[in-house]
Amino acid sequence: MAKLIVAVDLGASKILAGIASADGRIINRKKISTNKAEGAEYILDRIALCIKEIIKENSSAGDKISGIAIATPGPLSYSDSIVWDSPNLKWGRVAVKEELEKRLGKTIIVDKDTNMAALGEYYFGRYRKFKHLLYVTVSTGIGGAVIVDHGLYRGKNGGAAEFGHMVIDPSGPYCSCGRKGCLEAMASGTALARQARVLIVQGKGQAILDCADGGEITAREVGAAARSGDYEAQTLILDLREALATGLANLVNIFDPEVLVLGGGVAMGLQDLLLEPLFSSVREKVFALNNNGLELGLTSLGEDVGLYGCMASVMFGN
Ligand SMILES: [Zn+2]
Repeated sequence: MAKLIVAVDLGASKILAGIASADGRIINRKKISTNKAEGAEYILDRIALCIKEIIKENSSAGDKISGIAIATPGPLSYSDSIVWDSPNLKWGRVAVKEELEKRLGKTIIVDKDTNMAALGEYYFGRYRKFKHLLYVTVSTGIGGAVIVDHGLYRGKNGGAAEFGHMVIDPSGPYCSCGRKGCLEAMASGTALARQARVLIVQGKGQAILDCADGGEITAREVGAAARSGDYEAQTLILDLREALATGLANLVNIFDPEVLVLGGGVAMGLQDLLLEPLFSSVREKVFALNNNGLELGLTSLGEDVGLYGCMASVMFGN
């Protein structure tokens, strides 16, 4: 007889579920592709089914589920666990907790994906138990979370730490939020791919096109072209890096954290091209006092960081 935890990380294009022992060791994972066009009701059904299946496939008679937690894209109203008009999911207002509890007949913990990632890092990562920790995810979008005095800072509604929508350049490109020059519009994977397509429309960017080999152009193809020595791709990554450094330096100056942890597909996938010069640039831009003792690093939990956060919220509360 074992005690088990179920963790679910809902993304714009996938549901990643994990089942873990009561002390936080992941026993098994399950990944399902989703499509935004499928709508909230259908995705919630898929999540509920995924949870039922992972429990069935990995438990035996007498095992007890000690908790189920889910990380969802924000904005999320924390008091009632309602997603508010999520740009990534293309949902209106969806009562994630209520809907899943109805489907499963069990209590579910729900939090914003970036908050869960920060909790994962705080309890299980390389920067465990740092008193003041900033987490920034750089993937198709940019988001974040703040741990102050060992606890998550959520703000009044649960909407704190929307770092991706900090304006870096008011004359920059339009952002999905409607403003111009947000960090997300300048330094996310989506922004990098868009800049590459602008080059291609101008008849440039041949090395990036070659890397895409007829397929979709994403941050990955720009990275591959940059690694092959292509000047245009390297310039795009340099621009991303400088916008990101400006944003991260702003955050360090505002919060004076002990550690700033980066995660997300773009930060991990382009780490060889990004990290060292990015971190040097952040250190050059911040106040000397804020740089004193500051650690800058990449999450040690990779794609599972959200699952670890879900487990932490069951084990230690959120
Ligand atoms: Zn924005």
